[in-house]
Amino acid sequence: MKLVLIGIPGAGKSTQGSLLSRQLGVPYLSTGHIFRIIAKEKTTIGRYVKETMNSGLLIPDEETIPIVEDYLSRREYKKGYILDGFPRTLNQAKKFKSDLDKIIYLELPDKEALWRIAYRTEDARDDQTVAAVMKRIEIFNEVTKPVISHFDEKGKLIRIDGTKSIEDVNKEILKLLGKEFYKNKVRSWKQKQKIILAVTGLPGSGKTEATT
Ligand code: AMP
Repeated sequence: MKLVLIGIPGAGKSTQGSLLSRQLGVPYLSTGHIFRIIAKEKTTIGRYVKETMNSGLLIPDEETIPIVEDYLSRREYKKGYILDGFPRTLNQAKKFKSDLDKIIYLELPDKEALWRIAYRTEDARDDQTVAAVMKRIEIFNEVTKPVISHFDEKGKLIRIDGTKSIEDVNKEILKLLGKEFYKNKVRSWKQKQKIILAVTGLPGSGKTEATT
């Protein structure tokens, strides 16, 4: 199962990602986490990534796409994964080679996200200053919203009210994921039935209609 969590900073992507990873038995991968590791390197790229992240800007697609694809080519991600933070631009969504099953959009008003981050003390980070978070929200609205519409058009989007408690959000995700996978099973079962009918030429199949 290949899932993506999408939402503004503070929407609860990493919390839900870790929960879902345990519940569904697939690994969780956050691109923000990958870049925070790279930002610690005392190299040109390390310094560049650190500066970019701390100002709330995105790392360019040319750097991001190969890094993510390289991680996902590892054996532990073969059967599936829960991706947090990628794809975040339309270009990333279109160039990403892997076929994603569902995109879970955790919806949260911008103001609520700012409150949540302002009161976050345990895991406060350099890229979570008010200015950086405001920039990240602005970029989300401009650059990532089209990604959401893109997956919505493909029928792969699941919208979740992110203002609810961690437990309720989690329950809602599992409920909607279950429904979607049930629908997909019915759809593929119906398709198989159509093929069987067409091959055997039983009444109601395309074949009998064509030959009568
Ligand atoms: P996050 O923890 O997902 O909010 O990501 C933290 C920072 O990492 C972002 O503000 C970006 O600078 C960088 N980043 C994470 N994912 C991406 C991505 N898909 N494309 C570009 N930059 C990213």
